[in-house]
Amino acid sequence: MASILVAEDLSAVGGISLSAAVPVLTAMDYQVAVLPTSLLSTHTSGYGRPAIVDLAQWLPQVFQHWTAAELDFQQALIGYVGSVELCQLLTTYLQAQALDLLVVDPVLGDLGRLYDGFDADYVAAMRRLIAPADVILPNVTEACLLTGLSYQDQPALVTLLTQLQGLLKPGAKAVITDVTQADKIGCAWLTDGQVQFVGQPRLAGHYNGTGDTLAAVLTGLLGQGHDLKTSVTLANQWLNAAVAATLAEHRTDARQGINLKPILKAILA
Ligand code: ADP
Ligand code: MG
Repeated sequence: MASILVAEDLSAVGGISLSAAVPVLTAMDYQVAVLPTSLLSTHTSGYGRPAIVDLAQWLPQVFQHWTAAELDFQQALIGYVGSVELCQLLTTYLQAQALDLLVVDPVLGDLGRLYDGFDADYVAAMRRLIAPADVILPNVTEACLLTGLSYQDQPALVTLLTQLQGLLKPGAKAVITDVTQADKIGCAWLTDGQVQFVGQPRLAGHYNGTGDTLAAVLTGLLGQGHDLKTSVTLANQWLNAAVAATLAEHRTDARQGINLKPILKAILA
């Protein structure tokens, strides 16, 4: 059983981020170290202002304890972090780990804008956090913020991806996660300077937690040794099935994250 460190927010209600990553990676046979970067009563989309506990005091103590206990992780997935201080703490801790795989979802913003509370210093801290990553999973907005290119919802992918690659170590891959091509939504990355795209039909509606779940699925598949194209293809198929299952429920409350059952079934099949 491989061990994986997953660091992102824990939102008690809403079924996204850590609440989605843990079942997915557990089903994939990982021993999961579940590290909340902050605690929220709900996620931040549609429930009003959540009660939040900042864990900046706790995280250094966690890392100290883990180091003393000689706990090592083979892989890591980093999602929402939340402050410059926490980005720096994670960057330092990860440097001391001999990881086979580090995936960073550089959560910064969406629809061309930084999320509330983030600024240029936070973007700079995120650039330092992605520098040692093997794979990063920005959306188009995050790709623009990281590279400094101006936001377009249909950007020149080859330019954006080439600039992103320049922020990463040799051999690492930038994968943009919310790329639209015709009627499809999917992911784009570069192979030998050529843009690769894998996607699935875009289904009606907008769902919380799709990006977090995609990151967990992709990390798990890559960590199991699948190549990037296979991993991205399977991840997009499974996410599409999860969105379809969510649609079929005709939910009256659209705030809850997607139905994970099709993904768990596919993993266990
Ligand atoms: P987020 O905004 O949460 O980061 P994205 O919009 O990047 O999430 O979506 C991540 C993945 O989820 C996409 O690559 C796709 O596989 C799937 N997905 C998201 N929304 C839809 C949709 N409306 N229809 C089908 N698949 C979707
Ligand atoms: Mg995202």
